[in-house]
Amino acid sequence: MLNENFMRVLTIDLDKQESGITERTDLHNYLGGIGLAMALFAENFVPDRAPGDSCQPVVFANGPLSAIFPVVTKVAAVFSSPLTGELGESYAGMRLALAMRLAGVDAVVIKGRAAKPVYLTISDQQVLIKDAAHLWGLSCEETGRILRETEPGRGHRSCIRIGPAGERLVAYSSVNVDTYRHFGRLGLGAVMGGKNLKAMVVYGDRDYPIGNYKEYDRVYQEIYRKVVTTEVMDKYHGVGTSVNVMPLSEMKALPTRNLQSSSFEHAGSICGEAFARDSLYRKLACTGCPVGCIHIGLHRRAFDEGYEYEPVAISYDHELIFALGSFLGMSSQGKIYELIDRVERYGLDAISTGVALGWVTEAFNKGLVDVNLLGTEVAFDNLEGYLHVIDALVQGENEFYRTLARGTRAAAARYGGRDFAMNLAGNEIAGYHTGYGAILGQLAGARHSHLDNAGYSFDQQSPPLAGEELVEGLIKEEKARNVLNSLCICLFARKVYDVETVVKALCSIGISKTAEDLEELGENIFRLKMDVKKKMGFDLKDVKVPERFFETLSLHGQLNREEFEKLVSLYLEKTNRY
Ligand code: SF4
Repeated sequence: MLNENFMRVLTIDLDKQESGITERTDLHNYLGGIGLAMALFAENFVPDRAPGDSCQPVVFANGPLSAIFPVVTKVAAVFSSPLTGELGESYAGMRLALAMRLAGVDAVVIKGRAAKPVYLTISDQQVLIKDAAHLWGLSCEETGRILRETEPGRGHRSCIRIGPAGERLVAYSSVNVDTYRHFGRLGLGAVMGGKNLKAMVVYGDRDYPIGNYKEYDRVYQEIYRKVVTTEVMDKYHGVGTSVNVMPLSEMKALPTRNLQSSSFEHAGSICGEAFARDSLYRKLACTGCPVGCIHIGLHRRAFDEGYEYEPVAISYDHELIFALGSFLGMSSQGKIYELIDRVERYGLDAISTGVALGWVTEAFNKGLVDVNLLGTEVAFDNLEGYLHVIDALVQGENEFYRTLARGTRAAAARYGGRDFAMNLAGNEIAGYHTGYGAILGQLAGARHSHLDNAGYSFDQQSPPLAGEELVEGLIKEEKARNVLNSLCICLFARKVYDVETVVKALCSIGISKTAEDLEELGENIFRLKMDVKKKMGFDLKDVKVPERFFETLSLHGQLNREEFEKLVSLYLEKTNRY
């Protein structure tokens, strides 16, 4: 029943092989999602132990609007990132939020490490820790297929799993959620691998009664209409986020060939419109979303000699096309599909993998690494070389690949080329070279993601935000996103869920919050994240920003390091009270 005055937190201890539900009455101020996950993570993490230590917890959390309002589909995950060595935060959609809701679980905290590979099944009746020996070593796709067959459960089901990259602790391995969504960034896959946890299947069929159904339905319909009859979410269903590829290239903001350039001569062949024209096959939606932004292309490829062909359904979006496309100089959709398919099978984060490959290519061209080390030649637009590197990386073939598996920053620290190792604080960059806002936003954002504060969009305003206004804008936006993320709203719907709408939606299910309460929540989560990051040893002052950002023309021309450093100082000044 909504409006219960406690939150149900399921804690699973893999060391002791036991689990239990706690009904917490002290966490309501965090609402849910990232607020709840951060509060539970702060309670459970061990500051003086390494991020990859299996004692470190992983927290998954739902929000109060999850699965009962349109486009409220995300589950927040918080963990220690093996990639950056500090706060890990990631979100995924598809069916997990609904399954958790109907299993009667607001948050799941997983601690410890199983003695041998296991997977979890979670329902409203029981939690089971099961042997995963038959799944270990399998791809994300195969693992999902077997679990769907062997774990039918009751009601709605969601299956999250890792691939071989997570098992082998590649620091940027992802977690696949119901095939087409992921906890992609910052290495949650390796965290699960380090716990010997191959998968988690959640299913639930609880009732979910709503007190004042009439009022709830009124607000629901209002939001639904805004989603489907106005233009605010059009772009996501239409061409999808890959509609950005062409304009970014034209405005000199599309990272290309390891950001040696910011426009791509083949953008016309790999932009969203071209994918739609040549290979779009269907669109999917996370459960509870009427938009359907997940674009699936049909890739036809030869799998053997003698005219043997197979069709493969592969999802694409802007970040994938940037990281495994323009960033690697890939000139055709077919090559990009092959790379996406390979990272999907292994369970790697596509952005980090693409950016790492970009560094490998330039390091090879500059003679920092050679064929003996790589086992192959690599070149921009050369698919075979990249497939070899991805395979060798996951296998951990030699010392070079084991270092590359720790991220672009680690590889450059060992083999050279820091100035073109395109990471910010250890996280590989997103697909926008728009200006200072994009760089500072990722550098200073809690998880070093373009989604922390959308710095790239400040650069694209006319006139672009600059100086103090830019810094204040980034901080304000990050706090506002903390609120949306505590409610698990898909950020693509951020213009639908303005503060007034959020207040109404909460009120309709009996949760009374004012705009001021929400502002305070965003502030508190911001503070909590800064505090946890500090305890994990992060200091913005220590981060080295690669020179390449200041060499390659951006949307705003050549950027200047001194100007940028002034912005960093300003950011530090404005956040030093945290
Ligand atoms: S807009 Fe896309 S990512 Fe967001 S909830 Fe809908 S289908 Fe999922």
